[in-house]
Amino acid sequence: MLKPHTANTPLACLPHDHSHCVSSALAEADALCARQGTRLTALRKRVLELVWQSHKPLGAYDILGVLSEEDGRRAAPPTVYRALDFLQENGLVHRIASLNAFIGCVRPEHAHQGQFLICKSCHTAIELELPSISQAIVAGAKAVGFVVESQTVEIVGLCASCREAA
Ligand SMILES: [Zn+2]
Ligand SMILES: [Zn+2]
Ligand SMILES: [Zn+2]
Repeated sequence: MLKPHTANTPLACLPHDHSHCVSSALAEADALCARQGTRLTALRKRVLELVWQSHKPLGAYDILGVLSEEDGRRAAPPTVYRALDFLQENGLVHRIASLNAFIGCVRPEHAHQGQFLICKSCHTAIELELPSISQAIVAGAKAVGFVVESQTVEIVGLCASCREAA
């Protein structure tokens, strides 16, 4: 069995004050939308906050469930889907297709393709950003005449804290 690499363990797998993650994600979103001239409406911001409630991808239905319990915000599904589309187009969230769920982006300030390590035990998703992976995919696609428009790589396994607990 491998020894846990505590020094390299991402914050997502360690006990931490998550309110910092949420507030910095929301502040970054405000700044990014201001720079891009897009509008982070109250609903879009609330949906982003819900996606950021943990480091585990959250499904659209879970978001709808919370919103419909909140007073004065009987958000219709299309409204929530449009808010998620907006957040995705602006790089603030990534969609994890295998879980049909969304995760907040840790580096929304520049365009990138997401690579995710998804823990099968606790469902934490850790975002990697390895240009060599994206480049290899683009090169492999190009070799067969395929143009890549977007790529989200999803890798399933066990995270450091679940390995330690096992
Ligand atoms: Zn956190
Ligand atoms: Zn990202
Ligand atoms: Zn885990």
